Amino acid sequence: MDSSKYNRVIAMQCPTCAGTHFSFEGPSEDDSAMATCASCGRSMTRAELREENSENIEAHVKEIGRQAAQDLSDELRKTLKDAFKGSKSITIK
Ligand SMILES: [Zn+2]
Repeated sequence: MDSSKYNRVIAMQCPTCAGTHFSFEGPSEDDSAMATCASCGRSMTRAELREENSENIEAHVKEIGRQAAQDLSDELRKTLKDAFKGSKSITIK
């Protein structure tokens, strides 16, 4: 199964002004890197920014989970259908 379609780009929002443009200072993967909001100038560490956006991130994770479950059941249904192909006694809808 192609899992790349579950990838999401989650826009971090500024907790002060809800802006989504930040400039980062320091190593991009470092939690202590400073993020500065382009709209209001508030600066915080990347870790703080992620913490502020945890609800948003969680919503995305849940949505991805739902989609994965849906895709999985579609695949399962197809597999079952194939397995029972030719059998008249079992109908899978
Ligand atoms: Zn801001």
